[in-house]
Order: sequence, then structure tokens, then C-alpha cells
Amino acid sequence: MLRALHAAAILSFAVVALSVTARASDPQALGDAAAVFDGGGGAPMRDAVADFSSARKMGAVPVAAVRRTKQSGADLFYFSPQEAAQAKKTFGIMSKTAKGFTFDSDVPADIKKQMLADLDFMKTIQGGSATALHKKIFGAVDGSGYYGWFDSRVTAIGLDDCGSANAVACVMPFSDPSKMWLTNNFIKFSHPQVARMMVVYHEARHTESQHGNWSHATCPTPFRDDQGKDMKSIWTGAKLAGEPACDVTPLGSYGSSTILLKNVQKYCSNCTDKVKMDAGLYADDQLGRVIDKDAKRQMQQDFGQ
Ligand SMILES: [Zn+2]
Repeated sequence: MLRALHAAAILSFAVVALSVTARASDPQALGDAAAVFDGGGGAPMRDAVADFSSARKMGAVPVAAVRRTKQSGADLFYFSPQEAAQAKKTFGIMSKTAKGFTFDSDVPADIKKQMLADLDFMKTIQGGSATALHKKIFGAVDGSGYYGWFDSRVTAIGLDDCGSANAVACVMPFSDPSKMWLTNNFIKFSHPQVARMMVVYHEARHTESQHGNWSHATCPTPFRDDQGKDMKSIWTGAKLAGEPACDVTPLGSYGSSTILLKNVQKYCSNCTDKVKMDAGLYADDQLGRVIDKDAKRQMQQDFGQ
């Protein structure tokens, strides 16, 4: 009964949220994410007031019971700042202390195998050095650190379509802010392994309830690169103008995963040339999503470019 009431409450909120037209580019909507400039190098912050465990005991809100922000499918999964705010009220601040994460029983074996293989790959990375922004968010370029960063944020992995035929993975804070969903595209992904990991680490950043789950910002219209060409999604090829597929801080989901890959390119000492080249290619592409001039300049300086 408790659970049913809980789902109903979320459902009624979602209807309200859908009627709100504020986008992530509104200064007010950005709220904490823009103001709090703290990526946190270690485990997520604990909140003495919020009791995340009580929400956890009740279980995740069934995804089917929640009206979600409609996905355009142009790029990675998007949730609204309002949905993130409601998730924070419902679940509190995440405070994962136990190690490990579960896979739902309906996650196909080959998807689970691919995910574990990808995380195993991340574990092997050696580097030592790192840029200042990377140290702030992830610590050193180091496999055990990367794995620990993921493991300290994600409690469960499930299977969902993430609202779009093009999606690969998502975190839906309003269902469970610490759960990552993989789609069937995860094993059909035509991008290199390091690009798939970029998506996974992008999504893991969205578990951070203490930062409004790092909602995306809305890309400008028009949205063009230095050559005057329309900016397109490297994941789907869709035009990004006006899409909620940008960032205004280096610490956001696009920003942080860009920093991760740029550091793999620069400092990984045991990666193949192919991995480093792929990492650089995808990092440079995603840097284009950082639309705040100061944030972008900060990242370029951090990368030494
Ligand atoms: Zn995202």
C-alpha cells in the first residue's frame, strides 16, 4: 500500500512537471548545479537529514508508473530539473556505502557481460597524472579509482528503452536516482568501447542528487561549430540546436565525461594508440556541448589546449 501511494504521488507530480515549461537553460532552473562548483573527488556526500535508506527500502518507483519527460531521441537521455528536484524530495541525497551493484534478472546475459567487460577495461587503466579538473572529479587517471567512482554511485542496473529508439543508457532520478538502465542498443552500439564508457560515466554522474543530478542545459539555436556547420550528435547524427543536450559547467554530465576521456587520451600509460585516439576524438566532440564560454575556456586551459 505504501508503495502504491508512493507511485501515485510521483505520478501526480510528473503531470505537474510536464506542464512546467522551464528548460535547463533558465538560470533559475539550473539552480544548484550551476552555483555549487564542487565535483567531489571521492564518494558522494552524505546528507545527515535525508534518509535515503527509507526510500530504498520501499524500492524504486516502477518506471512504468512514472510519466517521463518526452525524449526527442536526438541525443542522450534527458530529465528536467523539476524531475530531479522531486527525486531529491522523494529519495533524499544518495549515500551509498556498501560496495557492489545488482543486475535485474531481466537484463540479458550478453548486455550484462558487455557492461562488466567494459568496467573491467576501465579497471585496467593506468596513468597516475591527471589534469586539475580530473583530480577534482575522478582523482588520478587510475583504473581502481574509476571503478570505485562508478561503484560508489550506482546501486543497480536494469533494462529499459530509456524513452528513445536511439538510447544506450540512462539514469532516471524520479524512478531511482542510483539506478542505471541499459537498453538493447548497448550491445549494438557502433562506437568504440571507450565511447560506450563515456556514456556510462556520463549517466553515472546523473546519480548525484546533491547536485540536482546535473541536468543538461539546452543547446542554443542556431548551434554551429567553428566552421559554421550545424552541431550534430556524435551518437545519433541529429541536429542539436534547441535540444537539451548541452552543459554549462565542466562538472556536469557532458563536461565530466569529456574530462575523463581527455585525460585518458593524455595520461593513460597502458592504453593502445587506438584507445587514446578514440578518447581524444569523443572528448573533443563532447567539449562542443559545453556552451558556457567561461566553462569551456576553463576546460581548454585544464587540457592545455
Ligand atoms: Zn545526460
